[in-house]
Amino acid sequence: MLAINDIETFYGETQALFGASIEVGEGEIVALLGPNGAGKTTTIRSILGLTPVRQGDITFDGEDITRLQTHQIAQRGISWVPDDRRVFPTLTVARNLSIARKRTRFRSWSLDECYGIFSALEHLMGRECENLSGGEMQMVAISRALIGAPGLVLFDEPSQGLAPKIVQDVMKTIGHLKSEGISVLVVEQNALSILDVADRVYVMDHGRIIHQGPAVELRDDTGLRAKLLGI
Ligand code: ATP
Repeated sequence: MLAINDIETFYGETQALFGASIEVGEGEIVALLGPNGAGKTTTIRSILGLTPVRQGDITFDGEDITRLQTHQIAQRGISWVPDDRRVFPTLTVARNLSIARKRTRFRSWSLDECYGIFSALEHLMGRECENLSGGEMQMVAISRALIGAPGLVLFDEPSQGLAPKIVQDVMKTIGHLKSEGISVLVVEQNALSILDVADRVYVMDHGRIIHQGPAVELRDDTGLRAKLLGI
């Protein structure tokens, strides 16, 4: 579904990615892990066309999207759940969700389907987003991604700032997307929770992929995990 081939991405003259390659299959959950400043967010920004890729290419659903603009990439069926959620604070939940609806070649989720995953969402529809808790805002951000008809959802640090119980719910939701055939790329620093739901994992450091393999291997091999992630 997604193939990132040997990309190099720069901020001005500062190089952040040095030939990173990552693949996400259809209905596959892939985790991209690594320490602060490794280049994980830059990888997401490269996919979304927010930080230009100078070398290499990115294909999604068989199409080269490397030079497309961000809104064109969204229209192809890539949704994003940013680490800071980026909901419109002064709009209601209902309005935030209704403006997110769009047509792609993939299926747009109905509100009822979103309530099916997040039962509390229905009761929040009339609230302005600035009055929501972190966990509630995350529900809105994930629902917004699904209403946007994604074939691939990019999660940037989905557990950031959330209570452990809510992190578990978010991880369960990510697992549910797989059962719906949606592909997922999750960027995380707090690796352990995602290793329970991910199929495969890449570890990045200093803008390079330093490890790739099954998630279960990194979950169960504490020595390897300590070596790669220090946890
Ligand atoms: P974190 O978990 O801290 O967000 P990360 O793995 O997502 O880390 P990136 O944010 O992708 O890392 O940063 C990769 C490199 O790019 C770092 O060296 C960072 O300092 C640099 N960088 C990130 N954003 C910018 C920017 N806007 N301008 C210049 N350099 C940047």
